Amino acid sequence: MDKPAVHIVGAGLAGSECAYQLARRGIPVVLHEMRPKKMTPAHKGGQLAELVCSNSLRSDDPLHAAGLLKREMEAFGSLIIGAARHAAVPAGGALAVDRDIFADKVTATVRAHPLITMAWDEVTELPEGDVVLATGPLTSDAMSKVLLGLLGDEYLYFYDAIAPIVDAESLDMSALFAASRYGKGDGDDYLNAPFDKERYLAFYKLLTEAEVVEPHAFETTQFFEGCLPIEELARRGVDTPRFGPMKPVGLTAPDGSQPYAVIQLRQENLAKSHYNLVGFQSRLKWGEQKRVFRTIPGFQNAEFERMGQIHRNTFINAPTHLDKQYRLKSHPQIRLAGQITGVEGYLESAASGLAIALYLVAERAGKSLEPFPNGTALGALSRHLTESKAKHFQPANINYGLFEDLPGRIRKRERRGHYAARAHQQLRQWMQIYGFEDELPAASAATASETGSSETTVSETAPSETAASETTLSETSPPSLAEQAG
Ligand SMILES: Cc1cc2nc3c(=O)[nH]c(=O)nc-3n(C[C@H](O)[C@H](O)[C@H](O)COP(=O)(O)OP(=O)(O)OC[C@H]3O[C@@H](n4cnc5c(N)ncnc54)[C@H](O)[C@@H]3O)c2cc1C
Repeated sequence: MDKPAVHIVGAGLAGSECAYQLARRGIPVVLHEMRPKKMTPAHKGGQLAELVCSNSLRSDDPLHAAGLLKREMEAFGSLIIGAARHAAVPAGGALAVDRDIFADKVTATVRAHPLITMAWDEVTELPEGDVVLATGPLTSDAMSKVLLGLLGDEYLYFYDAIAPIVDAESLDMSALFAASRYGKGDGDDYLNAPFDKERYLAFYKLLTEAEVVEPHAFETTQFFEGCLPIEELARRGVDTPRFGPMKPVGLTAPDGSQPYAVIQLRQENLAKSHYNLVGFQSRLKWGEQKRVFRTIPGFQNAEFERMGQIHRNTFINAPTHLDKQYRLKSHPQIRLAGQITGVEGYLESAASGLAIALYLVAERAGKSLEPFPNGTALGALSRHLTESKAKHFQPANINYGLFEDLPGRIRKRERRGHYAARAHQQLRQWMQIYGFEDELPAASAATASETGSSETTVSETAPSETAASETTLSETSPPSLAEQAG
């Protein structure tokens, strides 16, 4: 008898990964996507896994929580990470991509799979059977209503601001210098606009006095702490941007001087024709953005491909509604994947889609499968969704604050190595217990070679802290579970 298909709604980061993981393990999938017939306010086309804002999937350092999560996903043959490596552009220690090459790769791979059927329509009612809802932060209104009906008013909304993109040809390159923070990557992966004190203070004044877009009456301007608009952040204090996205540390100008503040520009594509302003998500009016940002050194004639904007971010109160395998407690055949669960970011969204596929495969095979251990990055994500306090629940990027605490007292600079080694060990064990042995060599190689801890025990591994130089505001860690609980 034919196996019933899993219906996945939304072919973004989470839905595409989930579909691919199910199909490669023999489970048929119907993947529903409303674009290009019906667009969201942020997507531009009809490709799967379109990146709507930054082109970065965050740090690729194997000891950084985001780097660790990538390696765990690669252990299971992640489509999204594979496509990202295929489409990578130089970005210091980060994995950033040419967004078109990336989306083309994901689209071609999914569409070529014989067990995946695409359904190009907006889903307005939940299909029968096993369903994975991966409609993202810009879930269509009809599906939002369905969810409201299912969950009641525990459903939350908030708003993100996105960063401007500038045309490289319009910049005065003589005012900028190429360098990565602390010389990471190729050493010159970013363009940097340096400010002296006087110029910084003038820029700060303009930034904080410029007009913002008024929120609609139904909107509450509650921002994700890790993705504050630059003008909101600036309002917290004159030096706050200098300790955030404008921090000058690790960057020396070609004349040997240390700038007072810096704005970093990250390349958007392999051709280096466009750059984004790292950490400069904004909800200033567009005319105001042009006026203010053209006072950045080298920007006097800047032409912007896209201005900073604000957009809805839809997510549920996961601690109330989800179990550790991303099932709705009230309707276990319905699983939620991606940003709508309250994981934050491209990487994390794809990771949740991957985890759901593995759980579903096991369930279909009649196996009882424990969720990923809390010491792994994959487990830490669902831990955040299920063990955070419902009242204070906030979306989170992967970060070590979400992991189970390490035993004993470990010096701060050694913690990341210990987290990574423990994660490796726990993942390996989990894969052995639950029949993923075939994939183990990849897991061991990917994780071990880079943590330097193949068969090592936790106590043997103590790599030093390596700061992720490319960290932007949107990439900083939100409060840990412990902090939230407090
Ligand atoms: C404006 C904005 C900027 C962002 N910037 C960043 C960033 O810089 N870095 C980062 O890591 N993350 C960013 N995010 C978060 C980002 O959206 C997620 O990281 C990621 O795209 C979420 O993946 P997803 O699969 O959950 O959703 P998506 O990738 O958005 O995929 C959801 C898909 O579902 C489709 N869909 C929606 N409703 C229906 C329906 N009823 N029927 C059929 N299809 C439907 C949509 O068309 C879409 O293709 C941003 C989000 C927004 C809104």
